Amino acid sequence: MAFEAEHVILAAGALSSPVAHDLKLNIPIQPARGYSMTMSATKTMPSHALILGERRIAVSPMGGVLRFTGRLEVGNYSMEPNPVWLQRIENSAREYLRLDEKLDVKETWAGLRPTTPDGMPIIGRSPKHNNLIFATGHAMLGLSLGPGTGQVVAELLNGKETSFDLRPLSLERF
Ligand SMILES: Cc1cc2nc3c(=O)[nH]c(=O)nc-3n(C[C@H](O)[C@H](O)[C@H](O)COP(=O)(O)OP(=O)(O)OC[C@H]3O[C@@H](n4cnc5c(N)ncnc54)[C@H](O)[C@@H]3O)c2cc1C
Repeated sequence: MAFEAEHVILAAGALSSPVAHDLKLNIPIQPARGYSMTMSATKTMPSHALILGERRIAVSPMGGVLRFTGRLEVGNYSMEPNPVWLQRIENSAREYLRLDEKLDVKETWAGLRPTTPDGMPIIGRSPKHNNLIFATGHAMLGLSLGPGTGQVVAELLNGKETSFDLRPLSLERF
């Protein structure tokens, strides 16, 4: 279905670059694939969340389940997790945690973090289109930074002064 939009927000995550290509805009975002595996609670559960710094794995005990997340593979758009890396994440977690011999894995997935060359998001108006706003490139911190981005995008749309200076986050910095 085709329709005309008054305003457009480009928030396509790791796919922002190919989407913007159609608008003749070069958005320097690369996908950085990360992995998640969630299992039933193990007999010995960590009592709080942990970061296994040397192995770059986050451990999240959540009620009746335990989740490991980690890994960063740049440049691959596939969201199919590689089983070899899932096994390596489990092996790494075993170096630190007393886990059951066999884990009851309930869910595994891979997701694409939208990374920029300087690690900062791209937020603000398009230099070429007066009704296009970027809200992308949040890399490893999209869940944490999303509310702030939402607020400044709403301010831009309503013609208000933004809560923080968007110049360091403009597309023109590249
Ligand atoms: C394993 C892992 C763990 C993470 N842990 C954390 C964490 O603890 N804390 C944190 O802050 N962040 C974390 N992140 C990062 C966070 O997930 C991302 O920064 C965030 O998802 C980016 O949000 P986004 O809305 O920009 O992009 P996305 O969440 O990727 O959403 C983009 C959306 O655009 C849609 N889209 C793409 N192209 C089109 C199109 N042509 N038409 C229509 N729709 C389209 C996609 O389907 C998708 O729904 C983690 C990421 C991974 C992979």
